[in-house]
This record gives sequence, structure tokens and C-alpha cells, in this order.
Amino acid sequence: MVVKQAVWLPGSVKEGEVNMDHIHRWEKIKDRIKKACYRVGRDPNDVNVVVVTKYIGSDQIRCFFDLGLNHVGESRVKDAVAKWQDLYGQGIWHFIGSLQRRKVKEVIGRFTYLHSLDRYALASEIDKYLKQEGGTLRCFIQVNVSGEKTKHGIFPNELKEFVQEIANLSTIEVVGLMTIAPIVDKEKETRCVFRQLKQLQQQLQPLNLPRLSVRHLSMGMSQDFEVAIEEGATWIRLGSVLVGKG
Ligand SMILES: *Cc1c(COP(=O)(O)O)cnc(C)c1O
Repeated sequence: MVVKQAVWLPGSVKEGEVNMDHIHRWEKIKDRIKKACYRVGRDPNDVNVVVVTKYIGSDQIRCFFDLGLNHVGESRVKDAVAKWQDLYGQGIWHFIGSLQRRKVKEVIGRFTYLHSLDRYALASEIDKYLKQEGGTLRCFIQVNVSGEKTKHGIFPNELKEFVQEIANLSTIEVVGLMTIAPIVDKEKETRCVFRQLKQLQQQLQPLNLPRLSVRHLSMGMSQDFEVAIEEGATWIRLGSVLVGKG
């Protein structure tokens, strides 16, 4: 009888084993977050991290859970659902990519947050499903601050109207605004985009609409998270700098 032996692949990480690279990267990032906060007199506890896991598989995601990083962000429905199933019952899931209406039903019940609410038709589809299934979805409205044609998002001058339009959808909880800064080396431009998102938040807050808290700002990625924190980010979405890929 042939007994199959487990093969140990050199360099492979055992399931759930905390990888030293992850620990080191996270320690360094924590330090950078703290320093950015202290520069502007903010409390580092007010900055939440979404680990963007689109570059890594389920086993590696477990390593981040072991480090206490429970919020994971995915941008593609198919990949996200597979990982969500592998890691059933673990983590708090954020959908951060552009979402098609026909894929809404896959996101409902799995994801707690949506960072990319950018049109009424999408909001209304989400509302339809949630009214059947029960529950609410915490949404960030994605704003196209920089006005780039290739970017998704509501334009700043349409934001107020959009917020009023979706106010009648009782399952949509608007927790904040989200933006993606243009990929430029100029810190000044990036800062300007983040600052504008903060200003838009301040304009919405007095509207006093139901289920509209707009408490949060989801902005800042690997390239620009420190600038985003200085400008008021309460959620930063970190991929490559944290997972070491991309
Ligand atoms: C991929 C992605 C991120 C993370 O990007 P990194 O530059 O790898 O940190 C953040 N937000 C969104 C919407 C993304 O698609």
C-alpha cells in the first residue's frame, strides 16, 4: 500500500501561522499612522484600517486576523465571495470596488460596508434586496473629487442632491464619504483632494437627514495614507504596503 506523504514546500506558510513579514510591515505602518496623527493632533484610535486583500489568498488573510486586523476589503465580487466562504464567520467585510447592479445580491449579507455607492440605481437595488432579506448596509458615498473621467463617483456639485434622493431608501445607512486620489507624485494635489472631501462632509452634516451620519472619511491608500490621515481620514484602505504585493 502506498501511503501519501504530506509534502512540505519550502517557504510555504502553514495555515493561520503568523508570518513575520506581516508583523514587521504592520508594526512599521502603525508607527507611520501614529506619527501622522501626532503631526495634526489626532488620536490614532480614530483611524481604522481596512486590509485590502485583493492581492492575497485566504490563508494569508488569516494571518491578518491573527494580528487583530479584522476589517478586510475586496474589490471583485467573484474573488471576494470565494474568500468569504473560505473564512466563513471571520472578519468584517468591506466592498471597495465598483459594484454592478446584477452583483448586488452576492454582496448583501456578506459585506457590512460598501465604500463605492455612486449612483441611485445601485442604492435602489441594494434597498430592494435588503427589504426582502432584512438588515441595512453601511455605505460610503464615493465622490469623484478630482473629476477624472476614468473614475467612478458622484461629482461634488451633485452630492447634496444625491444624498437627498437616497434618503428615502430606509436600508441604506450613509456612514461617510470615500474618494480615491489621483495617482500623482505631487503631495499637494493629493492633499487638496482629501481636503475637499472633508469640506464636502462638513457641508452634508447639517442636512440632518435620516440615516445620514457621514461621520467617516474613507481615504488614503498605500501611497498616500499619511496625507489622508493629516486631512482627516477615519478609514484608510491599505493593500500593497501591508500585504507586500501589488
Ligand atoms: C486596491 C485598492 C486599494 C489599496 O491599494 P494599495 O495601493 O495597494 O494600498 C484601496 N482602495 C481601493 C478602492 C482599491 O481598489
